[in-house]
Parts: sequence; structure tokens; C-alpha cells
Amino acid sequence: MIRGERLAILRGLPKVDLHRHLEGAMRLDTLLELGRKRGVDMPLDSPESLGGVVCYNEGEPRSLAHFLGKFHDVWYASYADVERVAAEAVYDAAEEGVVHLELRFSPEHFCRKTSLKPLEVMRAVASRARAAGEEMGIGARLLITFARERQDFDAWKAIVDRAAEMADEGVAGVDLAGDEFGHPNEEFVRIFQRVADTGSLRATVHAGEGTSAAQVASAVERLHAQRIGHGVQAIDDEAVVSLLVRRGVALEICPISNHQTGCVHDLQDHPLPALDRLGVRVTLNSDDPAIHRSTINDEYDVAITRWAYGLADLERLEMNAVEAAFLDEDETEALRDRVRRGYQESRGQGLS
Ligand SMILES: [Zn+2]
Repeated sequence: MIRGERLAILRGLPKVDLHRHLEGAMRLDTLLELGRKRGVDMPLDSPESLGGVVCYNEGEPRSLAHFLGKFHDVWYASYADVERVAAEAVYDAAEEGVVHLELRFSPEHFCRKTSLKPLEVMRAVASRARAAGEEMGIGARLLITFARERQDFDAWKAIVDRAAEMADEGVAGVDLAGDEFGHPNEEFVRIFQRVADTGSLRATVHAGEGTSAAQVASAVERLHAQRIGHGVQAIDDEAVVSLLVRRGVALEICPISNHQTGCVHDLQDHPLPALDRLGVRVTLNSDDPAIHRSTINDEYDVAITRWAYGLADLERLEMNAVEAAFLDEDETEALRDRVRRGYQESRGQGLS
């Protein structure tokens, strides 16, 4: 089957995306427009010229540091700009066949070069993303990302307290991202204790993306992470693998991202299939689709073409994501039914 046919079938499957950054999911055309409006210092002649700077391009170095240089914070002048990118991210996910999206964002990212305020940014993103989800008939939840480098703990406490009050607005949890090498989990124990103490917010932590299995373990044990962003290095340590299995901790794996950041050298040798065989709750996610120049369907295509995964394997990963979604029991049940029905309907369409 040719790639285009596979992608069309994959698009029709009901997908759960637990790990997508708003900052990495913004349309090139929109950034071009916002950049021109603000007169920012970026190559704004065409989508191609801008893409040369803000997207990952074939042949560029594959390192986490290089990849993180693709994120820029110069675009936003108003809450309307923030609302626009939030809505578009949900529309684009729906277009890819995502039926439940957990969209994460750093409120501080949107405030650095503006007079916008983090708590107001949270309100803007949550209200617009939720509305866009309802419009498209998909579930949208928000996760608040903290960047390891910043450590503005007073501001973070206020953000956590506010986030805990925003469950009805779709805010479901907190995430930790950024430089794991320079800022290990130990530096964030107190703020993640505050997250746990809310009793309602869930926690996911980027860990063991490029560092080590030990960081995966400490994210679970010391930061109370219920899910791990990437966590691919867990494969190096049997004890960490069994910790993940025992606690039912899901790994939010984003293969194309892992390859572009150099955390995994060859997609063929990605640790996902091995972790899957060992009983870890592995899931497929998109990370920063606009920067990767990919969609979540491309991630599923990796599973088919590189690991010989079939429809039943994809459904298993999908069900892992359903069980790991930050939803209450009734919502999980409804999502489980929707995904199961979608996979049943797709049988006989050409994927075996
Ligand atoms: Zn990420």
C-alpha cells in the first residue's frame, strides 16, 4: 500500500493525543501573519523562509539543544492572538482524526515579550480550546507546562493554585519540560508536591528523553508523575521498566520528535516496541507537529513501516492512551467506546 493511502486510513482512525505542545503546533501562515503585524525580526517573506527558521529541516543537526532553538516567543500581542493559536491547534488536531487532545502550553511563554499575564493566558487558551473542541466534536483538555530553566516558583505556585480551580474549564494537569540535563527532577520536588496536594491536578513530566532511566524513576517517585513525556531511556534499566509496569505509568512517546532531537538514532531501533513487549503502557503522540512538519498520522505510519505494527497493535496503543488520559471515569468510558467503535468500523479498509 502506498503512503498516501495508509495516511488516509490512519486519518480515519479515532486517535488520542496526550502530548502536543501548543507552542509547537502553530500554523506557519498564522505565525507569518502575526509576525508581520508585530514587525518582528524574522524571515517573513514566505512560509518557506520562515519555515527555515521555525521548523526542523532535513539535514539539520539532530540534538535537543538545536531543536529547542526552534521555539520563539515573539508572536503574540494580545489575548486574541493567543486565543487564535489555541483554536487553530484544536482544529488541526481534529482534522488529523484526533478525538481526544491534551494540549499543553506554558503560560509564561506567551508573556515574555508582551504585557500579557500568565493567569489571563490560561483563561484565554482554556476557554478557546474547549470551545473549538466542542465545535469539532472532540475532547480538548489543557495541561500547564513549566520550563525547567525558569524556576519562577512564586509565579508557579499561583499558576498551580489557579489551574486547580480550572477543572471545569478543561485544565487537567501540569507538565515539566525543558533542559533535563541542567535541571534534574530534584529541583522541582516542592512545586510538584503542591500539584499533588491539590488532589485534582494530575502530573506528567518530560523525563528520560535524552538523559537516563534514573530520571524516569525519580519523576514517578519524587514528582508523582502519572505519565512520562517520552521516557524512552527507561529501556536501559529493568528496575525502571518494572516500576512503570507496576504503577501503570504511561509513556507519551513521540517517535518523530525522538529522531529529530537525536534521542533515538534510528527509528527502526526505537525502544517503543521493546517497551511494549515488556508490558509498559506506551502511547503514540505528536509533540510539536508544526516544527516536525508532521501529523500524528505520520507517527502511526512509523509504527506500521518501521516496526511492522498492524491494526490490532495500533488499537492496543490507542487503548493505552485512553486509559492514561487525564479524564474522570465516565469520560474515560465514553472515550473507550468511541475509540473501540472507530477501530471496528475501520476493519476491512486495507490495514491488517
Ligand atoms: Zn514534549
